[in-house]
Amino acid sequence: GLTTRLQNVFSKLRGKGKVSDEDVAEAMREVRLALLEADVNFKVVKEFISKVKEKAVGKEVMESFTPGMVIIDIVNRELTELMGGTQSKLAKATKPPTVIMMVGLQGAGKTTTSGKLARMLQKQNHRPLLVAGDIYRPAAIKQLQVLGEQIKVPVFSMGDQTSPVEIARQALQEAKTNNNDYVIIDTAGRLHIDEALMDELRQIHELTNPDEVLLVVDAMTGQDAVNVAENFNNQLQLTGVVLTKLDGDTRGGAALSVKAVTGCPIKFATLGEKLDALEVFHPERMASRILGMGDMLSLIEKAQLNIDEDKAKEMERKMRNAEFTFEDFLEQMDQVKKLGPLDQIMDMLPGMGKMKQTQNLQVDDKQVGRIEAIVHSMTVQEKQHPEVINHSRRKRIAAGSGTSVAEVNRLIKQFDEMRRMMKQFSDMMDPKSAKGGKN
Ligand code: GDP
Ligand code: MG
Repeated sequence: GLTTRLQNVFSKLRGKGKVSDEDVAEAMREVRLALLEADVNFKVVKEFISKVKEKAVGKEVMESFTPGMVIIDIVNRELTELMGGTQSKLAKATKPPTVIMMVGLQGAGKTTTSGKLARMLQKQNHRPLLVAGDIYRPAAIKQLQVLGEQIKVPVFSMGDQTSPVEIARQALQEAKTNNNDYVIIDTAGRLHIDEALMDELRQIHELTNPDEVLLVVDAMTGQDAVNVAENFNNQLQLTGVVLTKLDGDTRGGAALSVKAVTGCPIKFATLGEKLDALEVFHPERMASRILGMGDMLSLIEKAQLNIDEDKAKEMERKMRNAEFTFEDFLEQMDQVKKLGPLDQIMDMLPGMGKMKQTQNLQVDDKQVGRIEAIVHSMTVQEKQHPEVINHSRRKRIAAGSGTSVAEVNRLIKQFDEMRRMMKQFSDMMDPKSAKGGKN
């Protein structure tokens, strides 16, 4: 899938101390292919790649401590930006009820999502009213009624002989009478867009003047979904998108294209058939998911709670100036240990699991104890200038720490690698990069 492909591209970049223009070009070629293969709209891909390239070829990136990481960070930010940048809230009418109109192709998930939204609003102490506006699909009214019963939300319906426009009109009156502060209108879909349906939807739109027109898009449909979105947007001014079926084996194409094509933010995502399987859509989390960054955001939140920011800044400065010593290393280890068991933390870092295997980088807590013992057996001079540690010193350090010369060798060899890893932590502690903001 997309995630695996991107991870492969980035694992090549990540370890590099130096990145050439050719490396960047090569990586971008692969990112481009990965996106196209994930069925992302080609125009969107083209623009995305050119934006990333523009930012990635700068002198600052090439001369940074870990150019590979910086480029991944740029891709992450641009992906986030592509999906809207930040979380988007539901609009609210100044005078209730707030009217939400659900539109989309047949089978996209309009009816189920209507139920889920009602459930979410009800949990927030609102009084939603569901409106059965699909009079065409057999059993569509019944489907909404069943959902309404499950969550104890009233469903307004008038059978299948009254026009949906009239149903919507009477539903608004009903909401006023019963003090419903949200009205969610479920509408009919077709397998393909047709004029009669669009006409009906436009009339409902005109009559109810909805605060939200949410296009429900099946995330599994890729580029097709985007063409649909463009079409709906031209007819009805969409205000947002709900991406459904993200629990399935989606290729990610719809998520990445739909905001760029319609200009409408993705407001919600659904991840299952159950009524509580609705989530507020967070572009930065989706970007992390696509990049295979696992639970990185929660780690960053944790890091921000636990790490002394001044110390982290000082460390970063030292690393940038290549002043980072074994003493700093020990202190950094202490900070990182506050986050939790090390092996878990490593697994949360992008690509780190892989690096652990390929570089034989042992980072469990027991191993850290031995590493600390080795460093404690060094003299101040050795800690500050590791290059003086010759063979006889290594033997002494091994004996002093109860370890072996091989282990001491390994640690010193890995010191560079560790520095890179620590740099990654300090990048994450940097509030600018953590929030995915712009450079
Ligand atoms: P509508 O025609 O747009 O009203 O679509 P429905 O709400 O009837 O949903 C169509 C099918 O998709 C139903 O079987 C739903 O249970 C299913 N569905 C909707 N949302 C999700 C989701 O987030 N995940 C999964 N796995 N199935 C979903
Ligand atoms: Mg339906």
